[in-house]
Amino acid sequence: MKTLNNTLAAGAVLISMAAVFEAQAPPNLEKQAWGTFDGKQVFLYTLRNASGVEVTITNYGGTITTVKAPDRNKKFEDVVLGFDSLDGYTSKTNTGYFGALIGRYANRLAHGEFTLDGKQYHIPKNEGGVNTLHGGDRGFNARVWDAKEVTSGGPALELHYLSPDGEEGFPGNLNVRVKYSLDNKNNLRIDYTATTDKDTVLNLTNHSYWNLAGAGHGEILNHKLTLMADKFTPIDSTLIPTGAIDSVSGTPLDFRKATAIGARINDDYEQLKLAKGYDHNFVVNKGGRSLVLAAKVEEPGSGRVLEVLTTQPGIQFYSGNFLNGKTQGIGGAFNYRSALALETQHFPDSPNHPNFPSTVLHPGQTFHETTVFRLSVE
Ligand code: BGC
Repeated sequence: MKTLNNTLAAGAVLISMAAVFEAQAPPNLEKQAWGTFDGKQVFLYTLRNASGVEVTITNYGGTITTVKAPDRNKKFEDVVLGFDSLDGYTSKTNTGYFGALIGRYANRLAHGEFTLDGKQYHIPKNEGGVNTLHGGDRGFNARVWDAKEVTSGGPALELHYLSPDGEEGFPGNLNVRVKYSLDNKNNLRIDYTATTDKDTVLNLTNHSYWNLAGAGHGEILNHKLTLMADKFTPIDSTLIPTGAIDSVSGTPLDFRKATAIGARINDDYEQLKLAKGYDHNFVVNKGGRSLVLAAKVEEPGSGRVLEVLTTQPGIQFYSGNFLNGKTQGIGGAFNYRSALALETQHFPDSPNHPNFPSTVLHPGQTFHETTVFRLSVE
């Protein structure tokens, strides 16, 4: 009888501990006011999964502001560059597109021009007056998106932006939806959909900068990178593709076997000199159809691993060559090569290269691309 009583008592303790735990477990999606911009309210949303991974996203620019992930000893660090206030993002000195959604045309358009259906379009040449970079003077990164929270089946945030006909010079009213979701296997999934009412061109990406040792923990030169890419699109001195699609074989751009980013970055190789490091579009092997693994990054010190899966045909690997320490954010100054970007995308300047996969969207079609950032430890 005594044993039974003890068992019952122990059971009761366990039940009440479970109740306490339940009561204390943080919700998997939280929303906090973060200011206003353009007369619209801006919020910060925190998505959290069962293993404690946390992703914060603001509807200003649909921007990922932090990603807190554990190392092999379960120590959590923020592994992306970001700011702790809305002002950091809206400031004129923020020219890095940190964590933002990029559109309408991610990456570059040569001379800010393209021709579609026989008509020439002009987009602001916001990169040194020479080319368009990441959508023009004011791209999707600097717009306030509508946001809807989803809590059933794992936390998710649905963002919507209507880009009016003629915005930044692009044709067609473009309805863009981006859904960020986080599952319990540490997959941060991004689903992009868009429709238009006129023929237009479109290239969407997310511009997060990763340092798997933690933001502010030095350079990314010891991170090991694997790119599932046999080919890349070489660039000219203004970082515009020449139109060629070349093999990576025998070049410092061959990352088909895991290689430290710093191992060859300063090699005397023209493509590296032009970009001041890595800043190239790689052609994803078997890309542009289903969701495939495009890249893997391993940080030996912490054991953190990032895999990038995508349906997109290309991935821009940018080694943070233009970071110069002048911008301060969470974790301190954003120093030279202190973070890397892996921007899944269509090839840069595709509208001016008929041999690249098309970026034209017609009325009646739905643009749909998916990218997954998967975090783990080794
Ligand atoms: C570009 C870099 C640029 C960075 C921030 C990348 O997508 O390729 O050249 O510095 O974005 O704008």
